[in-house]
Amino acid sequence: MRPELVRIAPRTGTAFTMKAGQTLTVIDPEGEQVADLLCFNANDVAEVLSSGRTLDYASRIYLTTGDPLYSNRSNVMLEIVEDVVGRHDFLLTPCSKDTFRIIYGDTDPHQGCFGNLAQALAPYDIKPDAIPVAFNCFMNVPIDGTTGAISVLPPLSKPGDYMKFRARMDLIVGLTACSALQSNNGRLKLIECRVE
Ligand SMILES: [Zn+2]
Repeated sequence: MRPELVRIAPRTGTAFTMKAGQTLTVIDPEGEQVADLLCFNANDVAEVLSSGRTLDYASRIYLTTGDPLYSNRSNVMLEIVEDVVGRHDFLLTPCSKDTFRIIYGDTDPHQGCFGNLAQALAPYDIKPDAIPVAFNCFMNVPIDGTTGAISVLPPLSKPGDYMKFRARMDLIVGLTACSALQSNNGRLKLIECRVE
């Protein structure tokens, strides 16, 4: 049976489980669209994806094929096994009501990836305060090496580009089609994914 292709509508998110050894493909069907990815140990949700540990052990901020993503307990949760884009972000927090209020000046802000993740993960008894920095697939955040200034530029992903992760433990995964205009070159698009 062909594994189901899941469609994540613009400005929404979803959550699902994966078994160790399964792969997750995250697809950007239209190009220039970010997907925030989070994961928790399915057997103990206090164990969660850690940007700080992952970047520390990688000794660089741009991750790609072959790189492991570590938990807050330094266990490998996911491994990037295929990456046709080569530029993703693991520094910035999921966009949220506060992002839109503080950075965009919105008076009636959208709940963003943070709200979408919180909603999707609630049935797994994961609280909003447990949501860490997400692995932001396709997000293009170059750094000025001298000043440390960061900018958010259009993703380098073209229509149909994708990346693939292998689960190294049983996981609860949260995934969004990012809601922030700046991260997605001004146009909010869908994301697709498949677990096999
Ligand atoms: Zn977002």
